[in-house]
Amino acid sequence: MPTETFEFQVEARQLLQLMIHSVYSNKDVFLRELVSNASDALDKLRLEKLKDDSLDADVSDLHIELDIDKDARTLTVRDNGIGMSYDEVGQLIGTIANSGTARFLEELRESKDAAGEEGLIGQFGVGFYSGFMVADEVTLVTRRAGEKQGTRWTSRGEGTYTLTTVEDAPQGTSVTLHLKPADPENQLHDYTSPWKVREIVKRYSDFITWPIRMTPEGAATDEGEPEPETLNSMKALWARPRDQVSDDEYHELYKHIGHDWRDPLETIRLQAEGTFEYQALLFLPAHAPHDLFTRDFRRGVQLYVKRVFIMDDCEALLPPYLRFVKGVVDAADLSLNVSREILQQDRHIEMMRRRLTKKVLSTVKDLMAEESDRYATFWREFGTVLKEGLVTDAENRDALLAVSSFASTHHDTEPTTLKQYVERMKDGQDDIYYLTGESRQSIENSPHMEAFRARGIEVLLLTDPVDEVWVDAVGEFEGKKLRSVAKGEIDLDGEDAKAAESEREKQSEEYAGLLDWMGKHLADDIKEVRLSSRLTVSPACVVSDANDLTPALENMYRAMGQ
Ligand code: ADP
Ligand code: MG
Repeated sequence: MPTETFEFQVEARQLLQLMIHSVYSNKDVFLRELVSNASDALDKLRLEKLKDDSLDADVSDLHIELDIDKDARTLTVRDNGIGMSYDEVGQLIGTIANSGTARFLEELRESKDAAGEEGLIGQFGVGFYSGFMVADEVTLVTRRAGEKQGTRWTSRGEGTYTLTTVEDAPQGTSVTLHLKPADPENQLHDYTSPWKVREIVKRYSDFITWPIRMTPEGAATDEGEPEPETLNSMKALWARPRDQVSDDEYHELYKHIGHDWRDPLETIRLQAEGTFEYQALLFLPAHAPHDLFTRDFRRGVQLYVKRVFIMDDCEALLPPYLRFVKGVVDAADLSLNVSREILQQDRHIEMMRRRLTKKVLSTVKDLMAEESDRYATFWREFGTVLKEGLVTDAENRDALLAVSSFASTHHDTEPTTLKQYVERMKDGQDDIYYLTGESRQSIENSPHMEAFRARGIEVLLLTDPVDEVWVDAVGEFEGKKLRSVAKGEIDLDGEDAKAAESEREKQSEEYAGLLDWMGKHLADDIKEVRLSSRLTVSPACVVSDANDLTPALENMYRAMGQ
């Protein structure tokens, strides 16, 4: 087959332009990205071979190799992993499927200034393309395990790439970077220096479970081939005692498995011994991903069995409302070819999930008690998801309520916990009041708030759709009912209630004619017109029955087609 030339997809072209003209100061990370891809490719091959022993692939010495050619100014990252077919190269390398990246480009178009650009590159992984930060041409040669023919992909990053079939490609993938001309001013960024390469691997990729080897250039001796040197320790971070691992090392692992370029908010470590042994290293990210509320959000952590990678996105290990948690769970006593279906039913996995869930919640609780800034970040990013648990996880409802906080009329910006609300309740106040709506402002402007404001009674201001659901599911807190100020009759005055009642009866008679007239005219839209003591300024407001859906919920169900 002759060489064919293709155009990059529009988004891919934009991203490449950005990489080529990158102002991003930390260019070293390109190597982390290529090593990360190589490591994924080795994981995939090992798994595929495990599932299908007849696959024609050599898995006897899976590894990553780095090759420097000083004269040609090239750096090659080679793996003998799963590789890609001709079609896959076009699909995976020529386009951008990741929705996060598409969103990234959109933000970039809006930002325009260089500082914003750098910040944005730091926020989004850009994977394979980051090679173009340091290279003016990239060549990729790959052969998919089990296939005869290989493929060569080349590009200068300027709008097009070429594909050619090759006959003699080894199994796996090699990516060769033709490095940009050396900058005499800046020796620090000389990627043809073995010292530099060794240092980057140590810093970013030490925990990679496959050997990363480098053969020193021109080191051939009389004995023959030079000895390759393994650059990484390959030690599984989750199996090492905490005091022997630096925060930076944990963070690099997080970036690899979380496909995030930023540090995590918190690292959680758990060792379980006994009949079912496992180790877990979990991370709370510092930022919610854009697709957290979409159906195809890939949730779950990585599952290993005795240091061997088994699967990504293992959703059986944590409940859906903790889907943003990233990390690794390494179980000692599972079969290597355990399936998702088996995991869903396994009694030990169920116990593990319960324990991990409690551990995550107790970590959030500690953050709340000791690190209020970080707790605030956590709650801002993930509070909405966590509140789903108030509805779905009765077992942990109390723990979840303890770490939940809500906007309230008590303070303009600081949220409150239910416990704090109850401590501030006025004498004679029996219930916890809340109002749901689209925004804090729209709630505060609601006529329902008037009587509460006039009496200085605190009201929780709930603005997430899920709030409508959990308040009903939870019902009460410490014996105090959660009550919407927009529903049913509300008795705010306790003692004075009787007097008010007779006063109202008198007024009702007085206004009977008017109420009757209004009731008739509005009969199609409302159930009843009655006098109210809840308003102080507005002349009228619409109220639901205690059992009715709130307007926001009605909208939500309508949107869902129900
Ligand atoms: P990501 O790793 O986040 O998916 P990348 O841009 O780094 O994004 O890589 C895009 C895709 O290209 C990968 O998901 C993978 O399918 C494929 N790929 C990249 N490098 C390799 C490799 N060394 N071996 C096999 N496939 C690869
Ligand atoms: Mg990648």
